[in-house]
Amino acid sequence: MSTSIPSVPRPVNEPVRGYLPGSPERASLQRELALQAAEVVEIPCVINGIDVYSGNTVAVTMPSAHGHVVANVHLAGPAEVDRAVRAAEEGREEWSNLPWEARVGVFLKAADLLAGPFRDKVNAATMLGQAKTVHQAEIDAACELADFWRFNCHYYRTILADQPPEHSPGCWNRLEHRPLDGFVFAVSPFNFTSIAANLPTAPALAGNTVIWKPATTSALACWQLVRLLRAAGLPDGVVNVLWGHGADIATPVLARPELGGIHFTGSTGVFQSMWRTVGENIASYRQYPRIVGETGGKDFIAAHPSADPVALAVAIVRGGFEYQGQKCSAASRVYVPDNLWPEVRERCRGMMGEMKQGDPRDFSNFVSAVIDERAFKKHAQYLGLAQAEDIVAGGHCHGKEGWYVEPTLVRVADPHSRLMSEEIFGPIVSLFVYPEAEWRHTLRVVDQTSPYALTGAIFARDRYAIAEATQALRGAAGNFYLNDKPTGAVVGQQPFGGGRASGTNDKAGAPHNLLRWISPRTIKETFVPPTDWKYGFLG
Ligand code: NAD
Repeated sequence: MSTSIPSVPRPVNEPVRGYLPGSPERASLQRELALQAAEVVEIPCVINGIDVYSGNTVAVTMPSAHGHVVANVHLAGPAEVDRAVRAAEEGREEWSNLPWEARVGVFLKAADLLAGPFRDKVNAATMLGQAKTVHQAEIDAACELADFWRFNCHYYRTILADQPPEHSPGCWNRLEHRPLDGFVFAVSPFNFTSIAANLPTAPALAGNTVIWKPATTSALACWQLVRLLRAAGLPDGVVNVLWGHGADIATPVLARPELGGIHFTGSTGVFQSMWRTVGENIASYRQYPRIVGETGGKDFIAAHPSADPVALAVAIVRGGFEYQGQKCSAASRVYVPDNLWPEVRERCRGMMGEMKQGDPRDFSNFVSAVIDERAFKKHAQYLGLAQAEDIVAGGHCHGKEGWYVEPTLVRVADPHSRLMSEEIFGPIVSLFVYPEAEWRHTLRVVDQTSPYALTGAIFARDRYAIAEATQALRGAAGNFYLNDKPTGAVVGQQPFGGGRASGTNDKAGAPHNLLRWISPRTIKETFVPPTDWKYGFLG
């Protein structure tokens, strides 16, 4: 038990390194990229700290050179799923009874290892395995993840200190911030190494044990994270890692009565299917599982006639195409008034003409390949739809060497078309030009066109227009940007998450999220209990 209430270091955002030509950090990362690209790593499941090589493997290839295998991932079968659930259940008591500051110590150490000796390893793995440029890897795998760990430790301490303010005479009231009464199932997407690690570790920080199913396409980076967490001293059985096709793992795990919660980030359809399964099993659980899911988006940029066309064009290009549009927050539908369109069109075309696409090991590339063949084929279909519209730039894809989809800007004729309303999750930005007198009507179109509400941005210099849009689009985005691109949320500054079909909006890396992994117990202690059952009014 704790015998002190230590403070936790005040978190600050991890500084983003520049990797400028000639810098030592660039040379060091390039050495690590060469090392990792020359290896084929065997990646096991990890159950109660034991590496489990099932022999049933899938190859992980570089998206930018899909003939290049970087890892073989060993998939779990029913026996591994069963062992993992037992490990999580058996490890729960010891982990949750550990003094809270000991758990905090593990994750503060993990953050420092990531910012130090593991930085190149995790960044290189993210670049090779998920096709991120150096800048995209750095802001995700190094900085955002270190921020998640440090800020969560700080928030957790704050939550523990949250106690009932009032005590009637003769009694003392306390809140005990217990973990959930069952294991947490963490299921992560391919696109952010930081999210992948945060999904299992946020519940673990609060004293829960976890079964973590990462996306196979992110295995190279996730394996580095498993090694990092071991080096940080995370005890065996706290985070058990299972690889496999989503439903193969989820179906048996969600059927377990011990399930305490789901921490999911990924597509809306998968989240809804998991929620449905939980609903069907509801009578069999030992408790009501907490369900947290951050899901898809159709993120917008809406420009007012008073907007700065230069800032707007840069936001479209950066917000739409960085990491090949595979950020859940990426700008995907844009509304531009006709007075600004000629200039915005030329500026976007100019920038897109200069943008280089290729292997992330070549640091002059601004964009790379999309994650896998499935994504490539899906994007090719949307490019097919775009052929019937006005393609401003891009429009092609090439899958021979890597899964390359050209950054594409397409002007559509119908603001409600599929290109304007469906999540594409690739480097395809759809744009509608509206008559400048129809700003108010356009705000309604922005609000009502898609079922999602993740991120959105408005561009305007007119303060009345900014105020009007902020109110009109109140429900249209969980993260709303004024005169900035809708991507790049920073932990501790812009808590992240969306509403409507975009998720439960529990704001990753913020106290809101941590609270979902805690089941408080209220304790009232009475010092001198009454000894007579009669109240005075009885006479
Ligand atoms: P995905 O839904 O295909 O996969 C996510 C995870 O779910 C993977 O681990 C996958 O193996 C697993 N999975 C697949 N089918 C499953 C099933 N039937 N049951 C249980 N698990 C299953 O998503 P993705 O392609 O990895 O990631 C892209 C999606 O994630 C996009 O929709 C994007 O918007 C979303 N995303 C959202 C946020 C956010 O914060 N809102 C952040 C990142 C990504």
